[in-house]
Amino acid sequence: MVDSHDEHTGDDVSRKLREKADFLLSREKGTVYKDPGGRINVALVYPNTYHVGMSNLGFQGIYGLLNSMRDVVCERAFLPDDGDLGEYARTQTELFSLESGRPLNRFDIVAFSVSFENDYPNIAGILQLSKIPLRSSERNFRHPLVIMGGVCAFFNPEPVSAFFDICFIGEADEMLPEFLDLCRVSGKKPGILKKSVSISGIYVPEFYSVTYGKEGNISKRYQTEGTPEYVKRRFLQDISQSKITTSIITSETEFSEMFLIEMMRGCPWNCRFCAAGKIYAPPRRKDFKVIEDETRKGLTKTKRIGLIGPSLSDYPQIKDVLKIPGVDFSITSLRAGSRSAELVSLMKGHRSVSIAPEAGTERLRRVIDKRITEEDILNTSELLFAGGIETLRLYFMVGLPTETREDVDAIIGLVKKIRSVSAKGHITLSVGTFVPKPFTPFQWHSMEAPMEVKERLKMIKKAIPGIKGARVFHDVPKYAYMQGLFSMGDRRVSAVIEKMLKTGDWMKAAGAAGIRESHYIFRRKDFSEILPWDFIDMGVSKEKLWAEYRQALS
Ligand code: SF4
Repeated sequence: MVDSHDEHTGDDVSRKLREKADFLLSREKGTVYKDPGGRINVALVYPNTYHVGMSNLGFQGIYGLLNSMRDVVCERAFLPDDGDLGEYARTQTELFSLESGRPLNRFDIVAFSVSFENDYPNIAGILQLSKIPLRSSERNFRHPLVIMGGVCAFFNPEPVSAFFDICFIGEADEMLPEFLDLCRVSGKKPGILKKSVSISGIYVPEFYSVTYGKEGNISKRYQTEGTPEYVKRRFLQDISQSKITTSIITSETEFSEMFLIEMMRGCPWNCRFCAAGKIYAPPRRKDFKVIEDETRKGLTKTKRIGLIGPSLSDYPQIKDVLKIPGVDFSITSLRAGSRSAELVSLMKGHRSVSIAPEAGTERLRRVIDKRITEEDILNTSELLFAGGIETLRLYFMVGLPTETREDVDAIIGLVKKIRSVSAKGHITLSVGTFVPKPFTPFQWHSMEAPMEVKERLKMIKKAIPGIKGARVFHDVPKYAYMQGLFSMGDRRVSAVIEKMLKTGDWMKAAGAAGIRESHYIFRRKDFSEILPWDFIDMGVSKEKLWAEYRQALS
């Protein structure tokens, strides 16, 4: 705990950077300011910019949850905007928290909420900017406890495990109260590490070691300090009990001035490429009554309420929710189907909706088990445009297992068919490169070769602008491959992230670290191979996933 006399005044902080922080704070409603003295001080860090981090409901919710505890003070920190890094370097300013301007290294706990693998290099950058040694093994009891939470922690924390003292394998709203009880009695490293493993779902990477065979695969994992061989993923049984809501309303986010409500967690559809179905299992719904109460609470802060969940059209009382008076509800993504089109008429003033066919042919949609038909897509599109939607955003992927150029041609054909059923509005395609994810049946699969991915993207980019009102955006394949490396990587990949502090370029960093990326992303694996994330007990057997993988390929 931080003593009052230890309080940092923020004198070492550049005035320009402090003014920027003050500007952001001045735009916020709901910021919590507490005296740090005698409390457990947590710096909650989002490893991307303020704009991105404050758009994340999980991050916002954990801020509120921690600050609801009387003996905890939680302040936020983010990756500085690119333009501010020079000022940090020039003034030798250490990264500081928004609320009190204290350097992160003065906190008891620095907790990262990590939602995207491509933010891993930012974790290293933030620790460096905070003058906190990067590797857990280089830190001692004088340093803050550095914790990883968020979805990346619970499907494969191994590529960044060297940087963290503790990883939360599971939903933080389930695990945090128990962990803080431990902090109240156990103090600092190393004592707290040894005691924390008694909490189910807590992973202390330094208590495990890994050996590798000649071919570079994991040959064995060992554990010490009485830690379990498998760490069980934790989840909150009843999400109606969850305290995760928007804590701070601001215009400086993606969801400007919007109060977000989580209606569902976990997805019943289990598409084969998507990790959400497995890592958030089982699918859970918030009680309608609780949603009404949260809406009322949200309306005291703003008129805009956003509903969050993986397949909201499956929520049984969705129409009743959208009919709650006085609310401008927003659902940005819907599942193709007549039920979704019906909902649009209830979303007043809504201009843009996304649906995700993911693939152009019925065949490929069957491979990935995306259970929507071409008829669903065409009917829904027609109804959406007829219902007044101005922009229909369509999500597709290239490089999916078994995909051929005919499947890519069919994406173009599908957009033409949508245009033929409705000449109204705009169609925006968003095309991503397929990245295999842990705990999906495709965890054994390889990524498609870069030349082929580029060729397939080129086919789409060439054809779509020729269709009236249609345009296309796509990801940069180079970063999809980086995501693949971080998603399927093992502990050795941390050296790549470390080297990126110097080079910035992940491929050069991999070369400098002696890591062959092809081993991780361009190789089909055998069932018998020990995968880096096998130590996590996700609640789904490898045999079942393998059977599904074989079925998909056949
Ligand atoms: S892709 Fe969408 S519908 Fe399919 S499992 Fe993931 S969240 Fe559910």
